[in-house]
Amino acid sequence: GSSGGDEVSKAQTAQPSAQPTIFSKIIDKTIPADILYEDDQCLAFSDVSPEAPVHFLVIPKKPLTGLLGHLLLVAKKVADQKKLEKGYRIVINNGPDGAQSVYHLHLHIMGGRQMTWPPG
Ligand code: IMP
Repeated sequence: GSSGGDEVSKAQTAQPSAQPTIFSKIIDKTIPADILYEDDQCLAFSDVSPEAPVHFLVIPKKPLTGLLGHLLLVAKKVADQKKLEKGYRIVINNGPDGAQSVYHLHLHIMGGRQMTWPPG
C-alpha cells in the first residue's frame, strides 16, 4: 500500500519502552478511534491507515498472559460483523524486522480483498 514504506521506516526506529503508546490513549478515550468492540479485557478499532478494505486491530487493555485466545475470538466476532465470509488474514508484527511500529500487542485483521503470499 501507499503507506507501507512509511510503516517500515517507523518500525525501524520504534522501540519497546515503559512509556504509554498511542494505543493507551485510544483505550482511555483521550484520542478518538472507530471502536468496533469493547469489553473489560480488550478493544477492537479500525486501523487509521488501512491496507485492505477492512483493516482493524484487536488489542488487550493490559498485556496479560493467556489473552491471545480471547483476542482471537474477538477477531472472529468482529470479522463476522464485518461480513468477511470469504476469509481474512490475522497478522502480528513483531520487532523491527516484523515491521512493528506500536509496542502494544495487537492483532491486525485484514479482509475484503484477495491477500497474496508471501507478505512484503
Ligand atoms: P504495527 O506495525 O504492527 O505496530 O502496526 C501498528 C498499526 O497501528 C498500523 O497499522 C497503524 O496504521 C495503526 N495505528 C497507529 N496509530 C493509530 C491510531 O491512532 N488509530 C488507529 N490505528 C493506528
